[in-house]
Amino acid sequence: MDEVIRQLPKKASEKLKDNKKFFTRLRKRPPKNLDYLMQELHTAEFQRTDCLNCANCCKTTGPLFTNTDIERISKHFRLKPQKFISEFLEVDEENDYVLQQLPCTFLGADNLCTIYEVRPKACREFPHTDRKKFHKISNLTLKNVAICPAAFNIVEEMKKRIKH
Ligand code: SF4
Ligand code: SF4
Repeated sequence: MDEVIRQLPKKASEKLKDNKKFFTRLRKRPPKNLDYLMQELHTAEFQRTDCLNCANCCKTTGPLFTNTDIERISKHFRLKPQKFISEFLEVDEENDYVLQQLPCTFLGADNLCTIYEVRPKACREFPHTDRKKFHKISNLTLKNVAICPAAFNIVEEMKKRIKH
């Protein structure tokens, strides 16, 4: 997996032009069965890919923390939300709360999330490949294929399965 992750940004950059064209067409004419297809591709890919051998999202990107995330996680640590924020978070250029440091502070050495039960919503949903109306998050997906090997494979499979 390490080699796959190392090669991923280069492979994603080689596919960028192709992927942009594909998603432009997809946004114009999403197939009727898109939600169903994404569910199928997502499930098949995550049967092959074990996130515990990867954790690249936790190591390189980290999530946004919503206010609800902050309240839930602070409670878990028995901290006041403000204390949790000052210890672990900062505000990014888009005014969102993000981690102060990467890899994520809550990532264990075994790639297990130490706050799994209360982890941010963004962590639960990443890489969003089972999301309904997937064509609406194509700009985000263009970035995610350089981070997440599963998202990369899913987009490659989409290109084979959806003919415009
Ligand atoms: S979601 Fe993607 S980047 Fe994150 S651990 Fe799983 S395969 Fe790796
Ligand atoms: S909170 Fe957990 S799942 Fe989210 S980035 Fe950190 S280690 Fe990964």
